[in-house]
Amino acid sequence: MKILLFGPNGSGKGTQGAIVKDKFKIPHIETGVIFRENISKGTSLGKEAKGYIDRGELVPDSITIPMILDRLKADDCKKGWLLDGFPRNLTQAQELDKALKKEGMTLDYIIEIVLPREIAKNRIMGRRLCVNDNNHPNNIFIDAIKPNGDKCRVCGGALKTRSDDQDEAAIDQRHNIYYDTKSGTLAGCNYFKDLSKKSGGSPKVLEIDGRPGVKEVASDLTAKLGK
Ligand code: AMP
Repeated sequence: MKILLFGPNGSGKGTQGAIVKDKFKIPHIETGVIFRENISKGTSLGKEAKGYIDRGELVPDSITIPMILDRLKADDCKKGWLLDGFPRNLTQAQELDKALKKEGMTLDYIIEIVLPREIAKNRIMGRRLCVNDNNHPNNIFIDAIKPNGDKCRVCGGALKTRSDDQDEAAIDQRHNIYYDTKSGTLAGCNYFKDLSKKSGGSPKVLEIDGRPGVKEVASDLTAKLGK
């Protein structure tokens, strides 16, 4: 099962991605997580990426594209994968398409979580990260996933904020990139949706309304995946 997951920052993409990953038992590959892990380990990739991430800009394609195409060749990806945070622009979409064709791989699903920009912004500013597991959802502005005091609601771990989550200019910058239908993330998403249209609905496109609570969005997604 090979799946691309689209959604603006703050749409609950990470949370829904974790659900899809568990359903299909495939690795959940999140570009942002890979970068953050490299930053905390102080690797050269992390050092190179940090400035861009702090400003809410994309890490250059020359770094990101080979990193992801390489990751997809790892053993755990043989049965499939869920890509989250990639492609993030039209060039990345075209390069991914090219690489998949070269490897004779076909995509199964394009999942797009649709959410108005204003709602997405508030959600980002309330997001808290669990130090034990990046996929433990906590948000001080969303009742369903409110932390337990100042601790993770799933495991009781300590919570921290992402530096780029509290910076309004960086959030706006990230959303400018996401909602850009000319060359940004939505352009990449539309690239794959067009391919699907041209090939009679393959990969399947699932548009999910991201406005309801996490549970409602998850059950909508699960129903549409037919699982
Ligand atoms: P995220 O966790 O998905 O919000 O990603 C955090 C940051 O990592 C983004 O704001 C970018 O700076 C960088 N990033 C994540 N995915 C990509 C990508 N596909 N291409 C370039 N930069 C990326």
